[in-house]
Amino acid sequence: MKCTHIRRTMLIACTIGLLTSLGLGAESAHAQAPAKANTPVNRASGSASTGNSSQAFDKRRELFDQMSAISGIPWYRLAAIDQYERTITKARSKSRQQLGEWIGIYMTPSQWTGLLNPDDEDQFPLSIRWFSGAGKDGDGDGLAKRTSDSDLLYAVASHLMKFGPSEDDFSIGVWQYYHNSRAVQRIRQFSRIYAAYGQLDLFEHAFPVPVGNNYSYKGTWGTKRSWGGYRIHEGTDIFANHGVPVRSTCYGIVEVKGWNPYGGWRLGIRDLNNVYHYYGHLSGYDKNISVGTIVKPGQPIGWVGSSGYGKPGTQGKFPPHLHYGVYRDRGLIEWSFDPYPMLRQWENEERRRLKRR
Ligand SMILES: [Zn+2]
Repeated sequence: MKCTHIRRTMLIACTIGLLTSLGLGAESAHAQAPAKANTPVNRASGSASTGNSSQAFDKRRELFDQMSAISGIPWYRLAAIDQYERTITKARSKSRQQLGEWIGIYMTPSQWTGLLNPDDEDQFPLSIRWFSGAGKDGDGDGLAKRTSDSDLLYAVASHLMKFGPSEDDFSIGVWQYYHNSRAVQRIRQFSRIYAAYGQLDLFEHAFPVPVGNNYSYKGTWGTKRSWGGYRIHEGTDIFANHGVPVRSTCYGIVEVKGWNPYGGWRLGIRDLNNVYHYYGHLSGYDKNISVGTIVKPGQPIGWVGSSGYGKPGTQGKFPPHLHYGVYRDRGLIEWSFDPYPMLRQWENEERRRLKRR
């Protein structure tokens, strides 16, 4: 790779920014942007790093319900913002860390205390308000602490309380907070997933085809391929027969559906870790799947095929397989990472579950 890291980042940011605004998903980067080969893998699963223990879910739900009673904001909207913030902290762990014990909302000292506040550790609600800081006292102890779960949650809730109760009002409030349309899209998606299932514990995974002996795959991260100019293979190919069911690997929401010259008939599903799951070369879609559909792990979404590498409908230019890719949203750009270790893990977990039956 000859260009510098910065230029590469900008290229990807531009490409994705442009394509996102055209309504194309992250897999456009799959087609045009070089991969970052050494991105940490397998952080999308694993409970320790994500705070996904049942205790964490219980504590958070309690905090959301309390704040919902005070603010009138549905718990799943508060949960969506909290989870979005957690995923951004995870993606940018060098520049931000979790402030609360259970809550993932992050604010800089100057956001909290006010831009012109000379004391960036100010905890007095009155002076913070004087300097137009976002900090609030949510637990009634007289102090606005940037490390208190209730205070962080109340700070965001009081901003949202200025807007009406509809989903569009909520989106405007979120936009006013982030000034970033991707953040609004993510938070709306998360909020719908939480509302659909009525719970926070939605991080189970499934292998993308029924577990058995009728498929094969190996780690081919970063291999070159020929069609469409120089590209790096960003994903794992699971070879299986035409018509083998393809299933969602996660709880999530369908973000993209339709033809792409590289991926053929493809689907993009966003999960609560802010990871975009890309399924390429399908022969067709399950009839219940459209953009906005909420899915769960193991749910059929389509069938293995060999579509792609040409104009809509092109197929048979390569053996049938599922191309499965994963992309992590870092707030402004998306990085692909190697799905192979996760696929191995999900396959093993599912084998164990099947044995237990
Ligand atoms: Zn592939």
